[in-house]
Amino acid sequence: MKNDRIYDVIVVGGGGAGMAAAIEAHDAGARVVLIEADRTLGGSTALSGGVYYAAGTSIQRAAGIGGDTADAMFEYYMTLNQHRVEASLARALCDHAAEGLEWLAGMGVVFDPAALYCSGVESVPRGHAATGMGAAMGEALDREVSRRDIDVALNTRVQQLLMDDSTGRVQGVRVNDEDVHSAAVVIATGGFGANPHLLYMHYPEAAAHGDWTWYIGNRNCMGDGLAMGEAAGADIVGHNRGLLLTTPNFKKELEAYAPGWLVYVNREGRRFVDETAAYAVMAGVIKEQTGGSCFAIFDDVARREARPYREFEDAFTAGMITLNWVTEELDAQIAAGKVIKADSLAELATRCGIRPGALASTVDVYNADLQAGVDSRFFKKAEEMKPVATAPFYAAEMRPAIVCLTSTGLRINARTQVLDQGDRVIRGLYAAGETTGGVLGDRYIGGGNAIANAIVFGRISGQQAALEFKRNN
Ligand SMILES: Cc1cc2nc3c(=O)[nH]c(=O)nc-3n(C[C@H](O)[C@H](O)[C@H](O)COP(=O)(O)OP(=O)(O)OC[C@H]3O[C@@H](n4cnc5c(N)ncnc54)[C@H](O)[C@@H]3O)c2cc1C
Repeated sequence: MKNDRIYDVIVVGGGGAGMAAAIEAHDAGARVVLIEADRTLGGSTALSGGVYYAAGTSIQRAAGIGGDTADAMFEYYMTLNQHRVEASLARALCDHAAEGLEWLAGMGVVFDPAALYCSGVESVPRGHAATGMGAAMGEALDREVSRRDIDVALNTRVQQLLMDDSTGRVQGVRVNDEDVHSAAVVIATGGFGANPHLLYMHYPEAAAHGDWTWYIGNRNCMGDGLAMGEAAGADIVGHNRGLLLTTPNFKKELEAYAPGWLVYVNREGRRFVDETAAYAVMAGVIKEQTGGSCFAIFDDVARREARPYREFEDAFTAGMITLNWVTEELDAQIAAGKVIKADSLAELATRCGIRPGALASTVDVYNADLQAGVDSRFFKKAEEMKPVATAPFYAAEMRPAIVCLTSTGLRINARTQVLDQGDRVIRGLYAAGETTGGVLGDRYIGGGNAIANAIVFGRISGQQAALEFKRNN
C-alpha cells in the first residue's frame, strides 16, 4: 500500500463482496486499494460451498427451466421471511442476482446446468453450484483483481475509520498508525462468527449452545466492520439472525446434512419435521422445539447398517461432510456417552427426558407408515426411512449450533450507503456482504443466499463508491 497516496476508494476486506467492490470501483475509473487482514484474498467466500442463488439465469435456461423471474424470487423471499426483511434490499438482491451470476461466469466460474438444484424450499431450482465450489469463485475474483491496477494490502487489519468531525464524513482509514485517505470507504469485512463476544451480543441463539457452538468460516471474521461502522454512527440491524447448521457435536467439523433414517423427536416425544428437510429451514424448526434441540432416534439395525449417505457422496469425497453417521463413529460416540443407548424405547425416553408414552406412539406410527410406504405425518420419502424396531435403541441430541454465517450488521440502503438510526446516510461510507444486516432474514432462503448477497451488493458498493468520488471531484 502506498501510504503517501490518496485513493479514491478504499475497500476493507477481500472476500467475495470486497473483491467485487474493488473490481467494480476500478472499472468505474477509481484508484482503489483493497485491504485484507488475511495472508490471501478469499475470506469465507473461498471456503464456501460456492452455491449462488438466482432466478432467470442462462444456466436455468440451459437446464430447460424457462420463465423463472426476479419477481417470483422476490415473492418467495418475502413470503419465506414473513416480510421481516428490508424489502428494498431483498428487491435489489432478487433484481441483480442473475446479473451477478453471469458476471462471475464471465470471469470463468463454471455453473454446470446439470448441478442446478432446489437449494431451499423453492419449487423451481435456483441453487447454482460453482464447479470447484467457493475456492474456484475466490480464485476467479482474485485473478480479476490481479489483472487490474488495484493495490492490494494483505496481512493488514483495519480497525479504525478516519472521520471529518465537522461534516461527519468518512474520509479514509487508519492502518498501523498511518492515515490512508479516500473519497469513499467500503466495509466488506464479512460476519462475526469468529468473535464469541459479538455472537453473545448479536446472535444469542447461536451463543446459547455453549461449547457446542463453533464457527466454520474465516478466522478473521471478527465483526470489525460492525465496530468501525458503529463508531461512525451506523445503525446495527438484524438482531439474532444468521445461519446455523444442525449437529450432534460428535466432532468440530462441518455437517450440512444428516441421513434420512434418523427420526427426530422433541421432548414431547413427537416428530415435528421431515428429517430430510433443507438445512435452510431445519435449524429454525429445531430451535422452536422445547429446549431448542431435539433427539435423533435410531435402532440397532440402523446403527449396524450406517454407511455414508449416498445422496451426498460427492460432498463426502470433496471433504465437505463429516462421517458422523457411520457405524464406527456411532460406536465411538456410544462409548463416549454422547449417543445414549437403552434396551427399550421407554428407558431411552426416560434417559433423554422425553415423555415415554408419546415416544412409543410416535415410533409405532412411524413403523406402520414405513410398512404402508407413506410417511403420513411429514411425507418423508419412504425409501429414506428405516424401522425403529430392534433393541438396543439409540438417541443423539441434535442442536442448531454450527455457525455458518451471521446476518446482524450495518444498516444500508439499496445503494449500499451505510445509514444511522435516523435514516441519514453516513457520507463516504458503504458496506456490502455479511457485514451488513437487513438482507438476510429469519429464514435462509436457500443455499446461495449469502454469496448472492456478497456479490450483488459488493458490485453495487464498488460502483456507488466510485460515483461518490466523482461527485466530490
Ligand atoms: C464453510 C462455508 C460454506 C458456505 N457455503 C455457502 C454457499 O455455498 N452459498 C452461500 O450463499 N453461502 C455460503 N456460505 C456463506 C458465504 O460464504 C458468506 O456469507 C459470504 O461468502 C460472505 O462474503 P463476504 O465477502 O461478505 O465475507 P468474506 O468472504 O468472509 O470476506 C470477508 C473478508 O474480510 C476480511 N477481514 C475481516 N476483518 C477485516 C479487517 N478488520 N481488516 C481487513 N480485512 C478484514 C476477512 O479476512 C475476509 O477475507 C458458506 C460459509 C461457510 C463458512
